[in-house]
Amino acid sequence: MSGNEQYCKMWEALGLDLEAHDQLLSVIPTIYQDIYLDQENRPQGMEYFDFVVVEIHGLRIKELQEHKEKGGKVVGAFCVYVPEEIVLAAGGVCVGLCAGAEVGMAEAEKVLPRNLCPLIKSAMGFKLAKICPYFESCDMIVGETTCDGKKKAWEVLNEIVPTYVMDIPQKKSAKGKELWLSEVSQFKDEVERMTGNKITSDSLGDAINLVNQKRKALKRLNDLRKADPAPISGRDALLVEQVAFYDNIPRFVEKVSALCDELEERVAKGIGITDESTTRIMISGTPMVIPNWKLPFIIETSGATVVCEESCTGQRYFRNLVDEGGDTVESQIKNLADRYLETDCACFTPNNERIDHVLEYAEDYDVDGVVAYTLQFCDPYAVETHKIKNALGKKDIPVLEIETDYGQEDTGQMKTRVEAFVEMIGNK
Ligand code: SF4
Ligand code: SF4
Repeated sequence: MSGNEQYCKMWEALGLDLEAHDQLLSVIPTIYQDIYLDQENRPQGMEYFDFVVVEIHGLRIKELQEHKEKGGKVVGAFCVYVPEEIVLAAGGVCVGLCAGAEVGMAEAEKVLPRNLCPLIKSAMGFKLAKICPYFESCDMIVGETTCDGKKKAWEVLNEIVPTYVMDIPQKKSAKGKELWLSEVSQFKDEVERMTGNKITSDSLGDAINLVNQKRKALKRLNDLRKADPAPISGRDALLVEQVAFYDNIPRFVEKVSALCDELEERVAKGIGITDESTTRIMISGTPMVIPNWKLPFIIETSGATVVCEESCTGQRYFRNLVDEGGDTVESQIKNLADRYLETDCACFTPNNERIDHVLEYAEDYDVDGVVAYTLQFCDPYAVETHKIKNALGKKDIPVLEIETDYGQEDTGQMKTRVEAFVEMIGNK
């Protein structure tokens, strides 16, 4: 990371543990060089996203502090179920707080069991070890009742920092829909109370339009990956999807659109990140949060390209738009609730629409194989893999199951398995 000194005062004022924070930042440049910068034939438009990573705890955090100095609030969330539009409509900024690194795990394991999903432990660890300036910038933390690990972790987090919890239904029944609508409405009231700003139909309409623009830009990027050869690597596409959770939205939309213009030219000229014969892989399962790039890197250095992410750091984040037709706050809240409840997370039962979507992506992206990716101790996705595998098996699409954490100990073993999988596909 460059120019750390200029941000030291800001990090200190935020209460970060500077030594531990330095350790976190010091590992990223080497990993990033190996995984990202050493790629050949990268689109030029990725330069902006490289810059975002370099400045991930710098410039964006400075922007958040400037927003706060002007009276704005920052809301942190851990799930794509939290409606960002409501925060924006009240003049706030919403940031993702999920964490994708092992740093801070030791702190987390003092208050959480060891055999818990690394995503939850990492997020808690970042807070306890005081290494996340996003966490420390937040005026409101929003948890949700999705998986058991998360909903119980919020009780522990609430002992450290007040945590507002949205009650997510388990079924998309009429009762479930009613509960969810009232939860979205209550969240609006809470955000209005916290920010001191009344949400109007105009402000909510603008916010809905803005977040839809972000989703459309991500959809356009992903549609371009349907081309053979794919014009961008899976690693780069994932990075763009990860940055979507932090960045200033209008700037993000502009940069993704510029990247897409470049990729469109590549597609027209038949230029790909690899050649046409490269095996096309979809990763399906749990989210991958910065700097969790382990699996796509392994896949893409084993003779394959990742062309689709069926996850919350992928399709689940941008697939559905919010209906922009509402002209009262009440109707807009209903539109928001409807859209968010379409999210096909494995925490729901049944969750058959996810199976349909996996099959749809497998066809649209012309995938040769699927890697069913589960973070360790994630029961919802691990159990649902059975159905995914069965459905893909009926279409004769091979599936490799990978369960892992944020550590590097299993990298060699994972690479051997992925290489064998790609070779098996090639021999089919
Ligand atoms: S996987 Fe489920 S719980 Fe996790 S972010 Fe996505 S919707 Fe939320
Ligand atoms: S990856 Fe699974 S266990 Fe972890 S937070 Fe998401 S749903 Fe829960």
